[in-house]
Amino acid sequence: MNQIPLVDLKAAHAEVADEIRAGFDRVLAGTAFIGGEEVRAFEREYAAFAGTGHCVGVANGTDALELALRAVGVGVGDEVVLPANTFIATAGAVARIGARPVLVDCDPDTLLIDTQAALDAVGKATRAVVPVHLYGQCADAAGLAAALPAHARVVEDAAQSQGATRAGRSPGSGQIAATSFYPGKNLGAYGDAGAVVTDDEEAAELVRALANHGGTAKYRHDVAGFNSRLDGLQAVVLRAKLARLAEGNAARRAAAARYDELLAGLAAAGRLTLPATAEGNVHVWHLYVVRVGAADRDAVVGKLNAEGIGAGVHYPAPVHLTGAFAHLGHGRGDFPHAELAADRMLSLPLFPQITPAQQQRVVEALTDALR
Ligand SMILES: *Cc1c(COP(=O)(O)O)cnc(C)c1O
Repeated sequence: MNQIPLVDLKAAHAEVADEIRAGFDRVLAGTAFIGGEEVRAFEREYAAFAGTGHCVGVANGTDALELALRAVGVGVGDEVVLPANTFIATAGAVARIGARPVLVDCDPDTLLIDTQAALDAVGKATRAVVPVHLYGQCADAAGLAAALPAHARVVEDAAQSQGATRAGRSPGSGQIAATSFYPGKNLGAYGDAGAVVTDDEEAAELVRALANHGGTAKYRHDVAGFNSRLDGLQAVVLRAKLARLAEGNAARRAAAARYDELLAGLAAAGRLTLPATAEGNVHVWHLYVVRVGAADRDAVVGKLNAEGIGAGVHYPAPVHLTGAFAHLGHGRGDFPHAELAADRMLSLPLFPQITPAQQQRVVEALTDALR
């Protein structure tokens, strides 16, 4: 049976294979395995793409978030507001600092963090609010920043939104954002990688130092740091893929529009809720997430998977219902929109190379599964 994966990394690799091989040869010949010219070049190119003054490459997206939070002053005992419906790493980065995640609900249509709920959760101990640009579209980071008191900063989780904008603004511009280059992200490395982007030079320098054992110059350590560096081989992959990212994001938008059209009947019949895009957003469709009506979601995903279709669930449990964050003391009913979405959602295969025929097959299988 012909498989349709959730994301087709083989097809993506085929487009850049020669370029990456040549780049790997350069790195191997020059032995710049950590940092080096490829990393510097990628940081310059990604900053230009993101429209920010600075980009600091780090080891993964969770580190990027932790370092960005630390760079704006989040420390032990501080509170950080974030949405209950996110990948657990958002809360994990906060917990690793020894800060306290304060969860809030999402907007029931876009599933982005509810801006008003976030502002209502801000107290004296709040040092940061983390809007997560979930599934490839931006939450209202600028609106949050404008309304926050001086002791709290916005730190954007842009792991799923490389290339997305809201009212023309991209994550990190005027503020600070963390992103992930996990292989399945819109811009994916061939291993773990991430970055912090910002216009704040001081914050960028602090992130760079923290990520390199606190070193501000060779063997000069003014702060205690970590090891979270980007390596040269990953930078080669990222440079090759970055050159095709805008085109890939446009292909994702076209594929999403095709799903919207193919699924319009099911949506009109109330069997399915299609993803909603917030006003002013240019969406990059990291994931195409629909929500089933009365159907049993797990059964629907099971039927799709049995047909060779790589449907997934992002994510089956909101942060407050995971064992890892049970100690926050929440229960079912605390964040009803996040909970309802988690019970009903499923992600359909979506990647730049997906064909109309593949999408047709996904929709036919989904229609059958919902019958
Ligand atoms: C992928 C992801 C992360 C973490 O990135 P890693 O590179 O896996 O550490 C954080 N937040 C969100 C929303 C993500 O999707």
